[in-house]
Amino acid sequence: MKEEIVIETNGLTKKFGSFTAVDQITFQVTKGEIFGFLGANGAGKTTAMKMLCGLLEPTSGKATIAGFDIYRKTEQIKKKIGYMSQKFSLYEDLTVIENIRFFGGIYGLSGKQIKERSRVIISKLNLEESQHKLVGSLPLGWKQKLSFSVAILHEPTIVFLDEPTGGVDPVTRRQFWDLIYDASDQGITIFVTTHYMDEAEYCNRVSIMVDGAIKALDTPKNLKRTYGASSMDDLFYQLARGAQRTSD
Ligand code: ATP
Repeated sequence: MKEEIVIETNGLTKKFGSFTAVDQITFQVTKGEIFGFLGANGAGKTTAMKMLCGLLEPTSGKATIAGFDIYRKTEQIKKKIGYMSQKFSLYEDLTVIENIRFFGGIYGLSGKQIKERSRVIISKLNLEESQHKLVGSLPLGWKQKLSFSVAILHEPTIVFLDEPTGGVDPVTRRQFWDLIYDASDQGITIFVTTHYMDEAEYCNRVSIMVDGAIKALDTPKNLKRTYGASSMDDLFYQLARGAQRTSD
């Protein structure tokens, strides 16, 4: 069976004045794939992701998300995607259950759906005891796991994760990735940026961006073989060390 393509870009470019932040990137991502989007600070990852989410207009090139053109169909795209970043957080002064209900309402879920999905999330995250606690009182790792569960509450086609595990301890990061695998098994495509190279190993394929362009794209195993790298860390260093941009 042919794999279903859910993200497709062709020469996607974003310029800010004369500065090219994203330079003609071309790639495809298939249904249920865990796609790692790597690059040093300032490489252009967030800018690319914003274009794919329909938040920023491309200067040139093309991209489709779940078959919708990112230029013209931004409203349809918003229904098909979930988004979570390190900075985006839930409402700290609402409880766990109130947050789930609130976002369920925004996503247009019915009362019955919200009830059912709340039960599943609470049980999966072992939050039975904490469901009526304010989110602000939870440890960061729990918040991020809850935040991810809320980002896929409406069962989107794709979820965009922008450094979702920044600052989270290794054990909790591993648990977070179990949630990612579950979502991928359900057929949700995962588009994730990270600075942790152990997480890059967990992805089905990884692209590495340098100065706005994609310099390499393959499975972690093939990338290491192609570049004779002993680890993803080594590979990343090899590719990114020639970068002109060091930070934003
Ligand atoms: P980080 O990991 O630090 O978030 P990134 O790979 O996500 O980096 P971007 O945030 O996409 O990188 O930024 C890419 C480049 O574009 C940077 O040099 C940044 O300064 C520049 N840039 C981003 N947004 C704008 C803007 N609105 N106007 C001008 N330049 C911008």
